[in-house]
Amino acid sequence: MNILLLGSGGREHALAWKIAASPLVERLVCAPGNAGIARECDLAALDVADHAAVIAFCRARKIDLVVVGPEAPLCAGIVDDLAAAGFKAFGPSRTAAQLEGSKAFTKDLCKANGIPTAAYGRFTAAAPAKDYVRAQGAPIVVKADGLAAGKGVVVAQSIAEAEAAVDMMFGGGLGPAGTEVVVEEFLQGEEASFFALCDGETAIPFASAQDHKRVFDGDEGPNTGGMGAYSPAPVMTPEISRRAMDEIVLPTVRAMQAMGAPYKGVLYAGLMITAQGPKLIEYNVRFGDPECQVLMLRLMSDLVPALLASCDGMLKNFDLRWYPDAALTVVMAAKGYPGMTVKGSVIEGLDDAAAVEGVQIFHAGTKGDGGRVLANGGRVLNVSARGKTVGEAQARAYRAVDRIRWADGFCRRDIGFRAVERENSV
Ligand code: AMP
Repeated sequence: MNILLLGSGGREHALAWKIAASPLVERLVCAPGNAGIARECDLAALDVADHAAVIAFCRARKIDLVVVGPEAPLCAGIVDDLAAAGFKAFGPSRTAAQLEGSKAFTKDLCKANGIPTAAYGRFTAAAPAKDYVRAQGAPIVVKADGLAAGKGVVVAQSIAEAEAAVDMMFGGGLGPAGTEVVVEEFLQGEEASFFALCDGETAIPFASAQDHKRVFDGDEGPNTGGMGAYSPAPVMTPEISRRAMDEIVLPTVRAMQAMGAPYKGVLYAGLMITAQGPKLIEYNVRFGDPECQVLMLRLMSDLVPALLASCDGMLKNFDLRWYPDAALTVVMAAKGYPGMTVKGSVIEGLDDAAAVEGVQIFHAGTKGDGGRVLANGGRVLNVSARGKTVGEAQARAYRAVDRIRWADGFCRRDIGFRAVERENSV
């Protein structure tokens, strides 16, 4: 098969690494890719937002399957456009991608189908949203309806903070994403990410993970796209995983099918594990980044047949095998992240770091320059490792981090600390 992978981050490097290992693959091309992905396969300088150019490329290169990494092209309908041109693509249609693209859509779907989630109200103007906030009290959560690059959620500790968030969103602070606002109940519990592969009719579990969103050790400082992750998530016991499938994922798949918008692709459920059980915080319609990196390290089965089964509606009797190991990834970011960062600094020692047992380094934002690797973004490297426990994976990942020479980079030193504490206490 000839496969085209779309995207350029650590998630796509992990996907490229796993897809390239499949005996089914004749040729893998990634667009636009990065310096690490270039070690797995060819790169193509395609603009992913230009669907006509992607289709022309698929024709010229006889592509059999397109794998879409990020959410933006999915929400823009690239899977629909590829299908109309006769090309198979892994991921949801534009309508089905509303599960990530519109929080109000997802909340209404949950309500109509009895899927456990936080109580909420939908608003198109500030005054009624504020009335709702005052009636409910704090803490309370204010969310922009649309895609806001991770900035669309304010967990407000006071009514004043919630009202300010409402004003910011309706005042255009998040652009068109904030023309509608969802205000919802604050959920208490431990968060986990739960992944399922869906084929429009059914779904199979695809492991769990937990990430660290804050930039500094101890989960302090501003929110980021994610500073590290590990899998499996200890809170996702077999019983909680079963409930997440039965009470959240499968009812969603059935509801989407009944609506005439069958959901295909990976469904990433952000869950709060509350005293009453798992509740949905939000859906994403693609693999998480950096969660994908740890999932790919743990997946023993060939990924390509699973992607094909999702596209072809064949997941019903599909089985995936996993290594019993844990996996952990540490994000190395350019100084200043999540704010302004400087591109172009040199990174050395990568081969030495990759030689540590169990370690795999995925590039998130790099650029090749002759034989050198240069930083080319905020999140730059995902230093990842497998181990018998999260603790062992953590020790290996940091051993590798310490071999990387990059004056302009930094990382958290405590990724996985909760899981490691839990392991050490038993
Ligand atoms: P994001 O991934 O940017 O949507 O971030 C949302 C984050 O806000 C989640 O990871 C939670 O930590 C938090 N959050 C969102 N909704 C709720 C809720 N209803 N109750 C408590 N925390 C929430």
